[in-house]
Amino acid sequence: MAQKPDNGDTVPTNHLLPGKSFRQGCIAKAADPLPFEALSSLMGLALPRRTALLASLAPLLPHAAMARTGKSAHVSTSSHAHNTNTLHAPAIIRGAAPPPPLVMLDPGHGGKDPGAIGYSGTYEKHVSEAAAAELERQLLATGRYRVALTRASDRFIPLEGRVEMAQAHKASLFISMHADALHDSAVRGASVYTLAGAASDSQTAMIAQSENSADLFGGPHVHATSPEVQQILASLVSEETRRGSTRIANQVVSSFQSRISLLSHPHRHAAFVVLKAADIPSVLVEMGFMSNRSDEAALRQAGHRAMVAGAMRDAVDRYFATARIGVG
Ligand SMILES: [Zn+2]
Repeated sequence: MAQKPDNGDTVPTNHLLPGKSFRQGCIAKAADPLPFEALSSLMGLALPRRTALLASLAPLLPHAAMARTGKSAHVSTSSHAHNTNTLHAPAIIRGAAPPPPLVMLDPGHGGKDPGAIGYSGTYEKHVSEAAAAELERQLLATGRYRVALTRASDRFIPLEGRVEMAQAHKASLFISMHADALHDSAVRGASVYTLAGAASDSQTAMIAQSENSADLFGGPHVHATSPEVQQILASLVSEETRRGSTRIANQVVSSFQSRISLLSHPHRHAAFVVLKAADIPSVLVEMGFMSNRSDEAALRQAGHRAMVAGAMRDAVDRYFATARIGVG
């Protein structure tokens, strides 16, 4: 039975699993790298042609089936959001103010997928869930955002389903939160990832492969999107969305810089399935590595998670302050 980590304190070590070792996702079973070159010719297609192609592929997409099931994310709104229903004089004259932007938080893994298992047995899924709950609390406290979570409990959600939820909620920003493991237990520090067809380095390629393998926990009824469809989806990500993703990534890195230890070259990119919402700036934050004794110990502490969340909240604040979109 899963343990609840978000009671404000320490994330529990799960003693039910054998050994004091960590696991690199299920990298051994991971799918082959995506053949991005194989379909590179599609990249040259005009957008209407690609859109039509994607529409014809829609029935094959697993997340389309999910949408029909009506599964929805956990959504919270700040008191400010409720206040938009109040009739202020300016609102009557100029029309209703737009609602605050919705930030979609995505705690990695969950349910039968524990994510990485830490040096002393901590599950990544518990750390990501506790950190996302803290970031939700801090974002709502600003009164400037609505916040939705892909999961607010310990349950399994396929990767495409997470993207689908962000799109269904018309999220302005998508933040996936993780604490992965590497074979080298000496590596520590936070890092930030955005979508790209090719990984920026071999370490990032391994992390992307590990994160993308999460769907293998879904069993035979969860069909991962084919590499061909993934390539088309990646090609549909607009330049504007890419710029937004880079901007939030840079803001997170600069927020972390003075407070949290970072990997060298902390902004990296790779083909993460969970970052492929065509129209929503998306970033994946590895808050540290469960395979490192110091990072794992820090991420188990509520105080450290509050500091990480505070840095991410500041990054979100600066992102929207400079975007001049969606802020009422
Ligand atoms: Zn992860």
